[in-house]
Amino acid sequence: MKIKSKLPYIGVTIFSRMTALANECGAINLSQGFPDFDADPHLMELVYRYMQKGFNQYAPMQGVTLLRERIAEKTLKLYNATYDPATEITVTSGATEALFAAIMSVVKKGDEVIVFEPAFDCYVPAILLSGGIPKFIKMKPTFYSIDWNEVKDRISKKTKLMILNSPHNPTGSVLLKEDISSLREIVRETGILIIGDEVYEHIIFDGISHESMARYPDLASRSFVISSFGKTYHTTGWKVGYCLAPKALSAEFQKVHQFLTFSTNTPAQHAYAEFLVNENAYFGLSGFYQEKRDKLLSLLKNSRFKPVRCSGTYFQMLDYSSISDEPDMVFAKRLTTEYGVASIPPSVFYHDNDDHRVLRFCFAKKDETLEKAADKLCRI
Ligand code: PMP
Ligand code: GLN
Repeated sequence: MKIKSKLPYIGVTIFSRMTALANECGAINLSQGFPDFDADPHLMELVYRYMQKGFNQYAPMQGVTLLRERIAEKTLKLYNATYDPATEITVTSGATEALFAAIMSVVKKGDEVIVFEPAFDCYVPAILLSGGIPKFIKMKPTFYSIDWNEVKDRISKKTKLMILNSPHNPTGSVLLKEDISSLREIVRETGILIIGDEVYEHIIFDGISHESMARYPDLASRSFVISSFGKTYHTTGWKVGYCLAPKALSAEFQKVHQFLTFSTNTPAQHAYAEFLVNENAYFGLSGFYQEKRDKLLSLLKNSRFKPVRCSGTYFQMLDYSSISDEPDMVFAKRLTTEYGVASIPPSVFYHDNDDHRVLRFCFAKKDETLEKAADKLCRI
């Protein structure tokens, strides 16, 4: 049977492809972003305990009540923002689901959506499936910052939504106070909605503080703020995230969520609810990953790779232009098959496959993994 694809230009995600290639050739996998160390044993025990206690059936559609209450308390404490757990917080099956539900719930046929490139790869397919039109704006190398004048110029009457990701995957750039001022000014007289993809909110370095959309009432009132417990608790495989949004937006969001997944893994939600009171687990995360970033950078000091500034996330971009002039996809494959280190070629995050001769490496790895990988990279 011939099927006319709804997503003719979308292939298998780079994360599946590079991880498969790494496994095939026994390469060290610094491509897909996930830790190669375990979560806190207490958190794992809690999931098991809740399973044994019989919390094995559907959770409430919006999420386990105690977890929503704890998320509300944490958001108030961190960002001085009030979200009603009954109507403004939804627990989702990872941030990926939250992003899809948020986009689906507001974007209609012909609506324009501002997407900053390089862009995490799940935004555009969701926009296209909603009938929306992505409007791409490139972040400016070498620091991958946003040119807000360009944003002002690209906004039209049809602009429905803007997707902002900070700390930013894959570049490691972050939104600063000045960015927020420009953003507030630009959207003030408009009806533009915002998605704040803030899954790396607790992985931000060098004393910079995370500028959540939730912090600013005028932005919060038009935003879906999305986070992921996978990143914060080294549990990417449990797929639990959440979305904060004002009541009217949350209501639309939940109309999609309830038919996309209905609800999210029950014992994991109870475990996170109990574990969330331990603030050290998330307050300590920036320091933990900053050490990993610095370790990787110092191991690569004498290599021919040049680091791009990384202010957050667990990804380090490395410029390889003094080693090769090959396109990043070609070089990433060769690095995996010939040198035994897998990475992500960021050109896949551009609609036109723009290529800056950099690769993205995940440093959410044991020190010993980083040492082995750096050893290989230094030989090149
Ligand atoms: N947004 C960004 C920027 C990410 O890096 C990720 C990580 N996969 C996600 C969303 C999705 O998060 P989750 O694994 O919770 O679905
Ligand atoms: N967010 C992770 C990354 O950027 C992986 C996401 C995925 O595999 N879907 O590598």
